[in-house]
Amino acid sequence: MNILTQKVALALGSNIGNAAETFALACKLLQSNGFNVTAMAPIITTAPVDCPPGTPDFANSALTGTFDGSAEELLNLTQSIEVELGRPQQHGFHESRTLDMDIIIFGRQIIHTPRLTVPHPAARQRMFVLEPLAQIAPDWIFPDSGMTVSQAYCLLQERS
Ligand code: ADP
Ligand code: MG
Repeated sequence: MNILTQKVALALGSNIGNAAETFALACKLLQSNGFNVTAMAPIITTAPVDCPPGTPDFANSALTGTFDGSAEELLNLTQSIEVELGRPQQHGFHESRTLDMDIIIFGRQIIHTPRLTVPHPAARQRMFVLEPLAQIAPDWIFPDSGMTVSQAYCLLQERS
């Protein structure tokens, strides 16, 4: 691990095609492009949230790993993998997709740029993000709120 190495949590989602296969391929492509995957959560099935009627259920998972570049560089990588695995580069908001990979936690960094908000602002409201992530990274800290993943998960459970 060099001085730039960041511990990273990603959320994965898919509601078109074989999600298990897509997630495994995504892992492989991350691994071969400088992202060292350390854990992947079991896949859960979730009902669509804020999507048009008829939207298929989602498969969701999360993974943790280490990355030596910047958060922007990681976003370039995750977006290129989304496209490689069948998500059109131009896509509508909440449109069904073969793969969505969001950066949830990027070390202790708090980022607000036109392309990136990290920690991911919606993570704390999304059971489909926190449930898988709590399985593999319960003690990781959201640097903006100071809460651990498992605290955020318990809080969301209490509220829903
Ligand atoms: P969604 O994840 O809501 O389905 P998209 O995957 O289409 O939507 O992402 C929309 C935009 O969100 C991307 O173009 C990206 O620049 C931006 N974005 C902002 N913060 C993040 C983040 N933490 N992880 C991934 N994308 C992000
Ligand atoms: Mg996304």
